[in-house]
Amino acid sequence: MTTDTAAQAAYVVAALLFILSLAGLSQHKTSRSGVVWGIAGMVVALAATVGLASRSITTTGLVLIAVATALGAGIGLWRARVVEMTGMPELIAIMHSLVGLAATFVGWNGYLDVDAELSGSLLAIHHAEVFIGVFIGAVTFTGSVVAYLKLSARINSRPLTLPGKHVLNIGALVAFVALTAAFVARPNMGLLIAVTVIALALGAHLVASIGGGDMPVVVSMLNSYSGWAAAASGFLLANNLLIVTGALVGSSGAYLSYIMCKAMNRSFISVVAGGFGTPSAAADEGEQGEHREINAEETAELLGNATSVIITPGYGMAVAQAQYPVAELARKLRERGVEVRFGIHPVAGRLPGHMNVLLAEANVPYDIVLEMDEINDDFAATSVVLVIGANDTVNPAATDNPSSPIAGMPVLHVWESANVIVFKRSMAAGYAGVQNPLFFRDNTQMLFGDAKQRVEDILRGLDALDAPVPEMAGSSR
Ligand code: NDP
Repeated sequence: MTTDTAAQAAYVVAALLFILSLAGLSQHKTSRSGVVWGIAGMVVALAATVGLASRSITTTGLVLIAVATALGAGIGLWRARVVEMTGMPELIAIMHSLVGLAATFVGWNGYLDVDAELSGSLLAIHHAEVFIGVFIGAVTFTGSVVAYLKLSARINSRPLTLPGKHVLNIGALVAFVALTAAFVARPNMGLLIAVTVIALALGAHLVASIGGGDMPVVVSMLNSYSGWAAAASGFLLANNLLIVTGALVGSSGAYLSYIMCKAMNRSFISVVAGGFGTPSAAADEGEQGEHREINAEETAELLGNATSVIITPGYGMAVAQAQYPVAELARKLRERGVEVRFGIHPVAGRLPGHMNVLLAEANVPYDIVLEMDEINDDFAATSVVLVIGANDTVNPAATDNPSSPIAGMPVLHVWESANVIVFKRSMAAGYAGVQNPLFFRDNTQMLFGDAKQRVEDILRGLDALDAPVPEMAGSSR
């Protein structure tokens, strides 16, 4: 068997391992084995690619590849070990930006280093691949960098609304099509520089135009773009595995974005087109009336007398690392005969499934953790709802205010219960930058402070409720 045939066979094995990995990752129970399949696929793919390359590159080239692989693997391992769960979307966004940057470089290299054997229509196809690869790569690069900046709160998450923003986006796409035709007819560096600049600007503008509430969909959309960018590089490098893997990432990312759009009642086309057709009204950040406060002891008393409690966790629970005392609170209340359930919004926190992972980590039983659709009708019959570090996902403006930036997004109907206690540190807005009218409702009380500390105070308050009352000196027997 030649090296080429062996490498192609290894690529088929790697592609199958990647498909197995995707299948494994689709369920909590099998996700660990999904990761293992993915690692195995990547090892096979790297070994086959280096084996193939070793035929035509010098020893120095091979050493450079080994150094680059070791460096990349080292940085990857270090980041994966130190990253907080709350920082995962940022890490994913910055990784997508690297895929985009790599695709852009591969495209440029394809222009500078054309295979001398290519001519006629094959050369034209090659130049079209260069142009499309550079375009997708550059859009992915800047789009992901802006997503990273928004997710890490280094820039405001509110949508950028430049005048005529849709005309700008459509203009960039029309320019891309026209420049591609011109480049295929007469390739030159000026056109390649022009498309690179246009794509860099388009990527940044598309993501900057999308509001904070829609960022989960954007992250998954960028995942898809990075897949297509990799596939484009695969065509240029004549690497079948890169084409297959890129297509897998591209199509699964697009499908995930579509599912998330449906779950959040967003138009898929609107999000892809940089917020096309979404309300551009400024968010109302001001106070919307009087809010009432409650302390931990009073909350403990309220909970002690409750018959049913629903806990709706959000990003603040993750920041405070409050999942362990929250799990303890649920356990204690259940021991007292209170019905306790958790209501999980599909985009609570900063990555899909974020809350489920935290609660599983703290050993909260699966059967009391319910999805939004399963629990939304039950709030009206609930005595107390504890909103722990959640904000956008419990905002009634999404259902009541058509001009709100989060209008139409399904939310947990916590306000329908008899008592709502909101755990947060201040009256600040949530991730989407929208004030929450829930905080000013008659049945809502704010419990200010770090969520972990406040839940621990409540646990002490519950213990105090159970403690025998010390007898008063001189009381009659
Ligand atoms: P939000 O991000 O809307 O709000 C979190 C709240 O937690 C804040 O209002 C903050 O208020 C409070 N908080 C922060 N730290 C603490 C702390 N230590 N103790 C107590 N409270 C704290 O949370 P949600 O989970 O409701 O919504 C998620 C948002 O993130 C949505 O807009 C969603 O679209 C977006 N998103 C989701 C992703 C996903 O895939 N799940 C990915 C990217 C974005 P204060 O500062 O006053 O304490």
